[in-house]
Amino acid sequence: MPLKESEAIILRTYPLREADLLVTFFSRVEGKVHAVARSAKKSKRRFSGALEPLTYVRAYYEDRERRELARLDSCDVLNSPLAREVTYSRAVALAHVAELLDELLPDREANDAAFRLSLSVLEELKEPPFWMPITYFELWMTRLMGYLPDLSECIVCGRELNGRPAFFHALTDGLLCPDDKRLASSEISAESRTLAAQMLRAPAENFASSGWTKSRAADLRKFLLQTLQRHIEKKLVTAGMLEKMG
Ligand SMILES: [Zn+2]
Repeated sequence: MPLKESEAIILRTYPLREADLLVTFFSRVEGKVHAVARSAKKSKRRFSGALEPLTYVRAYYEDRERRELARLDSCDVLNSPLAREVTYSRAVALAHVAELLDELLPDREANDAAFRLSLSVLEELKEPPFWMPITYFELWMTRLMGYLPDLSECIVCGRELNGRPAFFHALTDGLLCPDDKRLASSEISAESRTLAAQMLRAPAENFASSGWTKSRAADLRKFLLQTLQRHIEKKLVTAGMLEKMG
């Protein structure tokens, strides 16, 4: 089979047998691909530093007849997250982006918007604080996967929420007005809803990261993670790590 070439973002590696690694990467050309990297643990020449999660690479790989896993031949590093200091909070932020891509993207389905989003958010994940790019990425991935409801109206009665308090609930898809909110609903502030609307209209680079504290838009992130986790029907490992992050 012919060797394929694509820009890609490494999502995850997993030791297979002996020196082989199972690699999941998000290719620009055909979306999420699972591949075996033969002798990757030994071959510094073919993979040197290229298989760290969220490394932006040019990947060379081939499909194998009647095999589910492709074969990853080699990778050239285009941009590595390790070019900058990896503090604990930066590692958590990067792991969160990798986990969302890995859990949300279907196999072998190109998604250029998600690819461009990932590259732009990685650019913003260089210096702390990381809450702006994390929020931006969660919001846009929710939108791109088709899970984001209209944030301007109550999902039950359809009334406009603008200028009124709005609520969300772990078992409900959209936002709720005060009359329709359920027991144990959380409130999402008007400020966070306005921010979400702005983020859906402008690139990440338009939003300043500095000065963002963890509390800013925390209600929006809680709503987005609840929405995503309900759709994938599992708890995100990095969601708990983010909660503990300062
Ligand atoms: Zn309502």
